Amino acid sequence: MLDSQSALIEKINRLRRERGALILAHSYQSAEVQDIADLVGDSLELSRAAAREDRARCIIFCGVHFMAETARILRPERPVHMPDPNAGCPLADMITARELAELRKAHPEALVVTYVNSTAEIKAQSDVCCTSANAAQVVNSLPPDREIIFIPDRNLGGWVAEQTGRKNMVIWRGFCPTHNRILERDVQEARAAHPGALVVAHPECRPEVRKLADQIASTSGMVRFCRESPAREFIIGTEVGMVWRLGRECPGKRFYPVSELADCPNMKLTTLEKILWELEEMSHPVEVPAEVAERARRPLEKMVEILGT
Ligand code: SF4
Repeated sequence: MLDSQSALIEKINRLRRERGALILAHSYQSAEVQDIADLVGDSLELSRAAAREDRARCIIFCGVHFMAETARILRPERPVHMPDPNAGCPLADMITARELAELRKAHPEALVVTYVNSTAEIKAQSDVCCTSANAAQVVNSLPPDREIIFIPDRNLGGWVAEQTGRKNMVIWRGFCPTHNRILERDVQEARAAHPGALVVAHPECRPEVRKLADQIASTSGMVRFCRESPAREFIIGTEVGMVWRLGRECPGKRFYPVSELADCPNMKLTTLEKILWELEEMSHPVEVPAEVAERARRPLEKMVEILGT
């Protein structure tokens, strides 16, 4: 580690103690950000951990905007800060409140199932939320004859329809540009380069990529699968930061990104320098209007109720 980086980390550690800050990092953050975090996980794991943790006076959320919003919604009285407020998620922005209102009008009987990768405004208009780990379970829990509007990710929606055999799903056209960059030929080339490795892909990947995978899993599911599998090598079909997390959590195993291009520029806006500046200035609090937060909390709670956790 460079001297300048050690000095930076020392300052972060001093300030996080003084501020009583809990630093949370998504699995797609850079290695150095993951390494200084109190907890690394997927968006909901982090938001729920943030809600449960009683000792912290504030949260520094190293992820993208909708994740920090979710942490705020689940525990509104505690400040949540982002090191870079420009870290948005193009997938979350692919459906507007107006578009969802129009969809609801066109399908008045439908239940709206919303992936947590969505804005607070969209969650507030939804019936139930889901994550990539539990989307099929959430959909299966709903009455089979009720039409479902699934938003905003078409790849996750398509995978859920395959898993549940459900035909009455209206799936919105959004997609994650980072996962969409992973192509069939990337999987084929990675398999040729690492013939003994298993391919694990995220459900946000294109359907033709999913078909080539040995296992489809959310990020938390990937950690579990790779830890428990007798295989020693894995090709990882999701954002490249996940390879670092898997390496830390599954020692002795080898992980290869399926494509170096699957690098989310929004996730990488967070740096150690920006974490330090936020701890110094506390100038980027995340705000969710109380009325929106109140309505957005209900579909999140409904999801938790369905899962029984
Ligand atoms: Fe959004 Fe995709 Fe980046 Fe995740 S990886 S923050 S879904 S753009």
